[in-house]
Amino acid sequence: MTIIKSQLNIEENRDILKSHSDFYSYQFQLKNRIRGNDLYKYFELTDDEKKGISSTIRLNVGTTPYYLLLADPYNPKCPIRRLIIPTEDEAYLAPEESPDPLHEERLSVVKGLTRMYDDRVLLFSNQECSVYCRHCMRGRKVSFNEERMSKEDLDLCFEYLKNNPEITDVVISGGDPLNLSDARIEYILQNLEEIDSIKICRIGTRIPVTLPFRITNNLLKIIEKFNNDNLSIFCNTHFNHVKECTKDSKEAILKLLKVGVSVGNQCVVLKGINDSGEDMLALHRKLLEMRVRAYYMYDPEVIPGSRGFRTPLAKGLEIIEFMRGKIAGMGIPQFVNDLPGGGGKVTLSPNWYMGFHKKSRNHIFRSALRGTFHLSPEPVDSNYDSIYKEISDKDWEYYSKNSRDVFQ
Ligand code: SF4
Repeated sequence: MTIIKSQLNIEENRDILKSHSDFYSYQFQLKNRIRGNDLYKYFELTDDEKKGISSTIRLNVGTTPYYLLLADPYNPKCPIRRLIIPTEDEAYLAPEESPDPLHEERLSVVKGLTRMYDDRVLLFSNQECSVYCRHCMRGRKVSFNEERMSKEDLDLCFEYLKNNPEITDVVISGGDPLNLSDARIEYILQNLEEIDSIKICRIGTRIPVTLPFRITNNLLKIIEKFNNDNLSIFCNTHFNHVKECTKDSKEAILKLLKVGVSVGNQCVVLKGINDSGEDMLALHRKLLEMRVRAYYMYDPEVIPGSRGFRTPLAKGLEIIEFMRGKIAGMGIPQFVNDLPGGGGKVTLSPNWYMGFHKKSRNHIFRSALRGTFHLSPEPVDSNYDSIYKEISDKDWEYYSKNSRDVFQ
C-alpha cells in the first residue's frame, strides 16, 4: 500500500496530539482546541468540507483534540467528523430556515432567560463550548463572544427568578455551562440553591461527550455541595452516536452518578449520522451500559444551513418503531418535535393505537414487537367513548379476525 505524504503528516500530527503529556488535562484540551483553518492537519479534507469551513453561515468551527481523535481522518462519512467539519450545505440559507425557530429570543424575559413554560425557564449561561457541533440549534449565539453572559447579567436572571416563585425548574444551557470556570459554576448553583422556590436544576451539557476530563474532583465537589435537600441537580447530556461512547466518557458519567446526579441523554436525528434504527439502537444500548437513561430524540430544527442534516419526520417514527421490543423502555427516547414558533415540545409515536370499537367496547392496538393486532376492553362504567378514534364495523371485523386475543 502506498502511503502519500499528506497521510503521513496527518498520522504524525495526530500522534503528536495524542502523546502530549497533558492530553488528559481539560485545560490542555481547551487551550489546544483545533479551529477550522487547522483541520487540514488532521483530516484529508474533501472539497465539500473545504468550502464548508470557509463559507459556513453557522457557528464557528472548533473541536477539542480528544473529540477530534475519535473522528476518521480519511472517511468524510464518519459520523463524528460530520459533527465537527461543516460541508458546503452550511453555506446556504433556505427560505424556510430561521436562526431562532423556537422563538427563544422573543420569549426572553431578561437577557439570557427564556420562559416558554410557567414553571420552567432556560438559562443561557455561556456562549462557549468545547466542540462547536454543526447541528447546534443555538448556533445564532453559541461561539460568539458578544453573547457572553456577565456576572451582572446572571444577577438580573436570579432577580427575576426570585420575583417569580412559580418557577421551580431551571435548565442551565448555553453554550455549555460546564465550559464555565469552577468559580462561575459555583456562583450559579449557589444562587439557584438560595432561591427557595427553585427545586430542580438541569444542566444541559455535552462535556461527557466532547471533553470528559472536565469532570474533575473539584467540579464534582461543587455539584455535590449544591445537590441537596433544597435543590436536585440533573444532567442531560447529548450523545448522538455510539462512536462517542468511550471509556473516558463512561468514567465521566459514573463520577456524576456518584455525586447523586441522574444522567439522561438527548440526541437529534441527523441525516447520514444516526438516522437509522440500527444506529439509534446501538447508541442507546451502549448508553444504558454507561447507566445513562434515554430522554429525548429530537426532530432536527429548521435552522440556517441545516439542509445537510434534516431528516423527514417519518425517520424518527421509523426509528422508534424499530427500537420498541429490542431494548428496555428506559433505553427508548421520546421522539419530540420542539414546535417552531415557540409552541413547546410534542411527543410523537408510531401508529400503534388503531382505535376504539364502540359496540364491542374494545380498543385495538398493533403490536410494535410482532405487528399483530391486540384487543383491550374499556372499563364498563367508562364514559370517555367520545374522545377515542372510532373504528368502523368493517375494520373491526378485519382486526378482530386477525387479533391474537380471545374475544367474544
Ligand atoms: S455543545 Fe451543545 S450548545 Fe455547544 S455547539 Fe454543541 S450542541 Fe450547541
